[in-house]
Amino acid sequence: MKKYLMYVDGEWAGNELDTMDVVNPANGEVIGTVPYGGKKEAQAAIEAADRAFSSWSSLTAYERAGYLKKLQELMLENEEELAETMTLEMGKPMKESRGEVRYAASFLEWFAEEGKRVYGETIPSHLGGKRLQVWKKPVGVVGAITPWNFPAAMLTRKIGPALAAGCPVIMKPSRESPLTAVKLTELCVEAGFPKGVVNLVTGSSSQIAGELMQNEKVRKITFTGSTEIGKQLIRQSADQVKKLSLELGGHAPMLVMDDADLDKAVKGVVASKFRNAGQTCICGNRIFVQSGIYDEFVQKFSEEVQKLKVGDGLDEETDIGPLINKDGLEKVARHVEDAARKGAKVVTGGKPITVKNGMYYTPTVMSEVSEDMILMKEETFGPVAPIMKVETDEEAVRLANQTPYGLAAYVFSENVARGMKIIEQLDYGIVGWNDGAPSAAQVPFGGMKESGIGREGGHEGMDAFIESQYVSIGID
Ligand code: NAP
Repeated sequence: MKKYLMYVDGEWAGNELDTMDVVNPANGEVIGTVPYGGKKEAQAAIEAADRAFSSWSSLTAYERAGYLKKLQELMLENEEELAETMTLEMGKPMKESRGEVRYAASFLEWFAEEGKRVYGETIPSHLGGKRLQVWKKPVGVVGAITPWNFPAAMLTRKIGPALAAGCPVIMKPSRESPLTAVKLTELCVEAGFPKGVVNLVTGSSSQIAGELMQNEKVRKITFTGSTEIGKQLIRQSADQVKKLSLELGGHAPMLVMDDADLDKAVKGVVASKFRNAGQTCICGNRIFVQSGIYDEFVQKFSEEVQKLKVGDGLDEETDIGPLINKDGLEKVARHVEDAARKGAKVVTGGKPITVKNGMYYTPTVMSEVSEDMILMKEETFGPVAPIMKVETDEEAVRLANQTPYGLAAYVFSENVARGMKIIEQLDYGIVGWNDGAPSAAQVPFGGMKESGIGREGGHEGMDAFIESQYVSIGID
């Protein structure tokens, strides 16, 4: 079993610290350890990043883009190793892990280029003796806290724009999947980033995040994770008015209207719902199907779901890997039991798969679902598709919006006018219209309501790491 290290101030660090095990959810085996760092290690990383800020931000955007493009190339060259690490530590099937590596690398390419387009502004003056300008500056040292479910893409979606803007970073990955972050850091070292520009700290999330929040040298926190922890960070940020970007939980509705192309809808819902075993912030959690096509949809959809192959993600045939851990598995079982007790019908699946120390749950379809069931109110984060019958567009929209979340929604309808009217009423930051997989590096990704603050990706993704400085120049 390999002992991995943190990376602080241009050195691999933490050899003397206690360690945390990283466990393969497919079989319970410990696949490696990382240091259990805390406040002291976070402090050292912040100091290093702060020292690096002046020289890193003084490089031209073209020079910084060179480092990011090198890192992108290295990620693609090392796709297989990164993908295997991801699959081993969090269970995702290899075909999805490879896709995530490519998706993660695409943020580096996008932001390497986008960094060259951080334009200032010249604003017409109201007085002849003045010139009014807006200059753009990097926000400063950035703390990046990421979840376990997309261990590569959530990091590059943050460090790509931060580094392109001129901000050194401290990465804090989840304890469940820190090895992908270690591998990515190894590639940063190979890409030649100067000392202190990229730092990686593993260990106690409350201590590391606590230091990132209270240390005045950290000017920006970018976080992806649960709404619960996001709210905690908002509270902690108040004392220093620390800048925050938050990508939080989702509870995506999928609206299948009676004019949908049924095959397309089935394919789209399966793709969205069962990707990463349903452990995706934008995956469909509540499927609303109009009554005219309800029975046919449930039947066709269930037939497709039954074809999904559950197994160890390392097996090339696997479509659905294990859930991340015992808590995740128990949550899914609890949601299914609650729905069944309240009258939902299990069309297929509905039980865990007993494999020694493996966290597997059968891909599940439930029909006759109603609003009062827990799975219609909370993120299930598992391979369970609850389907509820709706009569009208108004009812579908009302139910879709009936949640504090507002990350992603999906609409399946072949009628353009109807689709547009429905989407205009949806309080969601991302909408897939006849599309179950809307993510891309060049588009704004983020949520309304309790799903977050700000956007990642696209040209908006740079804004989070840039300050505007208005300069009024007297020339008389
Ligand atoms: P989580 O429990 O909130 O953890 C996210 C990160 O926060 C991890 O690095 C975690 O570290 C850390 N953390 C835990 N306690 C903390 C604390 N007190 N202070 C600061 N940081 C702390 O979320 P998760 O279970 O990893 O991820 C699943 C959630 O992320 C879901 O709700 C999902 O919807 C959301 N998500 C959202 C997006 C999006 O773009 N909107 C994308 C992916 C996932 P440890 O794991 O080491 O404790």
